[in-house]
Amino acid sequence: MLEQNLQDVQSKIESACKRAGREPKEVTLIAVSKTKPEEMLQTIYDCGVRDFGENKVQELTRKIEALPNDIKWHMIGHLQTNKVKYIVGSVELIHSVDSIHLAKEISKQSVKKDVVSHILIEVNVAEEESKFGLKTDEVLSVIKEISKLPNLKIDGLMTIAPYVINPEDNRNFFRRIKQLAVDISEQNIDNVSMNILSMGMTGDYEVAIEEGATIVRVGTGIFGERNYKK
Ligand SMILES: *Cc1c(COP(=O)(O)O)cnc(C)c1O
Repeated sequence: MLEQNLQDVQSKIESACKRAGREPKEVTLIAVSKTKPEEMLQTIYDCGVRDFGENKVQELTRKIEALPNDIKWHMIGHLQTNKVKYIVGSVELIHSVDSIHLAKEISKQSVKKDVVSHILIEVNVAEEESKFGLKTDEVLSVIKEISKLPNLKIDGLMTIAPYVINPEDNRNFFRRIKQLAVDISEQNIDNVSMNILSMGMTGDYEVAIEEGATIVRVGTGIFGERNYKK
């Protein structure tokens, strides 16, 4: 069942790439495994997936301990500064950096551990009250500040588009993020590349790929609905 879900997602990714004239290897699928038990992650791992996304530090560190050590872990949830120290050096990429304050702490902990942390800047492209992330017009100035911090590399942008029934409704948001990334990369800022666009979830990842996503974060489409009450 999980294997079939994964195959469906992978073939939809391939089709979306084809439609957009892109190579499937340009798009990385992150299996978003928050709330799901380790056995389910192991099943997906056994199918060849190596990128997993989690949104809570405690759950993430527990799963890092329990699962194979060639997994690339992605922190995709809101991160409090006091928890940064638990994940620096153990994750591939932090997708959810939305303030200079948070970036400073990631930098500080990275210096302490003598590692370079790769981060994405989270953009609240639809300016939804309920969501974290910078407003589009703040992004460039914040990136300029963060780029001066030691032991950090900004690899691109991340966004969580609104929840919609029709994924077409998010196409313009994805387009805007792509354009923003192009504008930023033209500035040639030290320590900043815009190689990664982390956008698209179960409801809208195909449209996101058509608009330039290089990472899609799919939870429900692979693991099924989440039950937060358990
Ligand atoms: C939960 C989550 C996802 C996955 O959502 P699905 O709709 O289940 O695919 C992706 N990105 C972030 C930041 C999330 O918190």
